[in-house]
Amino acid sequence: MSSNVCQQCGACCAAYRVSFYWGELDEAPGGKVPSTLAEKVNDHMACMRGTDCAPVRCVALGGKVGESVKCHIYEWRPSPCHEMIPGSDGCNRARVRWGLAEIE
Ligand code: SF4
Ligand code: SF4
Repeated sequence: MSSNVCQQCGACCAAYRVSFYWGELDEAPGGKVPSTLAEKVNDHMACMRGTDCAPVRCVALGGKVGESVKCHIYEWRPSPCHEMIPGSDGCNRARVRWGLAEIE
């Protein structure tokens, strides 16, 4: 989730495991992602809670996918969320899973 179009989508927040280097957590120096909303994957990686199980849905996601959504930690979201660009392959795969039209 990274732009205005995402506010009517949220599919990628409810499709993939959102994992990232543990150093992005706020318990690490300079980290920002709230640790309480993440869980350990291994010694080096963490993921957003709710994204490593089925059905997938990040705990930080509010609203209804495909209609109106909000990331409750938008300013502090981890790098995969910054990197998920509308219209990218990952974006469109998630949208198709949710029955949403691909973005060109
Ligand atoms: S799937 Fe694409 S459009 Fe939807 S929230 Fe993610 S990046 Fe935005
Ligand atoms: S942290 Fe925010 S942008 Fe990232 S997956 Fe969760 S709800 Fe989506």
